[in-house]
Amino acid sequence: MNYTSTRDNNISIASMDAIIKGISDEGGLFVPEYIPQIPNLNSLIGIDYLSLAFKVLSLFLTDYNEEDLKSALNKAYDKEFSHDGIVDLVKTKEAFFLELFHGPTSAFKDMALQIMPHLLSVALKDKEIKEKIVILVATSGDTGKAALEGFKDIEGIEVVVLYPNKGVSDIQKAQMQTQRGNNLHVLAINGNFDDAQNEVKSIFSDKAYKKVLLDKGFRLSSANSINIGRLIPQITYYFYGYLKMLENNEIGENEKINIAVPTGNFGNILAAYYAKEMGLPVNHLICASNDNNVLTDFFNKGIYDKNRDLLLTSSPSMDILISSNLERFIYHISGSDEKLVNQKMKELRESGTYTLEGVNTSLISGDYINEEEVSYWIKKLYKEEAYVMDPHTSVAYGVYQKYKKETHDNHKTLIASTASPYKFPLKVLSSIGLAYPGDDFLAMERLEEENKSKIPSKLKELKNLKSLHKLVVDKEDIKPTIMEILEGGNKND
Ligand SMILES: *Cc1c(COP(=O)(O)O)cnc(C)c1O
Repeated sequence: MNYTSTRDNNISIASMDAIIKGISDEGGLFVPEYIPQIPNLNSLIGIDYLSLAFKVLSLFLTDYNEEDLKSALNKAYDKEFSHDGIVDLVKTKEAFFLELFHGPTSAFKDMALQIMPHLLSVALKDKEIKEKIVILVATSGDTGKAALEGFKDIEGIEVVVLYPNKGVSDIQKAQMQTQRGNNLHVLAINGNFDDAQNEVKSIFSDKAYKKVLLDKGFRLSSANSINIGRLIPQITYYFYGYLKMLENNEIGENEKINIAVPTGNFGNILAAYYAKEMGLPVNHLICASNDNNVLTDFFNKGIYDKNRDLLLTSSPSMDILISSNLERFIYHISGSDEKLVNQKMKELRESGTYTLEGVNTSLISGDYINEEEVSYWIKKLYKEEAYVMDPHTSVAYGVYQKYKKETHDNHKTLIASTASPYKFPLKVLSSIGLAYPGDDFLAMERLEEENKSKIPSKLKELKNLKSLHKLVVDKEDIKPTIMEILEGGNKND
């Protein structure tokens, strides 16, 4: 199995190279040259998460040997997950919640970021890369913490996370500031998320700066969700959810299901698409957005248009106007049409918009719900079934309800449940009609009184941990500070 680029079909590289490079030189995204089939799906009933993940990964990462893959999987999906099965499936009256948030940071990013660093580490050894890799991450919350947890103490890799000092929640800030690990650096910046993101982009395109880094033995890389090393591990849990439904006699063999996914960068739902192409019996995929409904317009009108204000919502990990992984979906459904992808991505760069015609996107439908509706569905499920969901998951559930009402499609439906409600206690408490006690830690405890499931221990212990990373820097000082940190000069990051 080799990987080509969405913008150049002549490219053909092994998965290790694709994972090290992250993005193709001409700006395209790496995609598998064909989609492998999962053999005898129904016979896998009862399989544990690790064995299933091994089956899926070994179809895509054919240049990794069995021992390395198994070792990466064992290190990734271990005791750090608070659920023995790694992923849980919770049945409610109208849907099945695939809980992907039982990892160390209580968000689904762990499903990929717990394993991707190990895959990268094996690839760096195999390719005999001599420099230290520097993973640079700009975060509005979830990704930064998940990257820190995933990469901590991994040999040959340093991590630098930039976050907006006033732009993350109390819990998210505490999660990052208290993170332990000898190779981790966290910088709060005076600015917003865009400032952090722009600074990261500017560093990646600053040839002189990168040259200085390289001379000092550091090579820049990124861990964002366009890396196929993050995408492929996400395919596993859709098969897992299906097999659990089968095992619990909720569906019959080969019975088709729907999957609703709260979507930002389009990585999670793209993994569901890959699962379908591999043989998972999927009837329909539902792409759920918050008020930043760029994808809703795309799936309904065929027009992608990012020329609008970015709105801040209670589901911040979906506050995004450019869903990078959509490029991969367009590439696949257009029959690997690199010309079309180049054309559309050029239009997007130059005018912020493009229209897609003559390509069938009907497998996926898109819709969105607003803040009031997010609260409505959190409250309804809590009152009627004592099940508490986080705002991101509520977006998917609400959009699913709208879809069902409009289409009368009664296929059993999996909701990708992407974060613990304890990570967003402010919105959850106000939705169910309870007062916010002033800070997120008290709010978590207040929520625990109402909820069947307990506060994840890693969130609970946060307030007692020592804050290790206290550096706050101005935008102008980011580049010199990173240089200083990597050279070991600044111990206070
Ligand atoms: C990142 C994230 C999403 C969006 O996932 P994409 O793969 O970017 O579409 C949804 N919910 C939560 C909690 C997230 O952290």
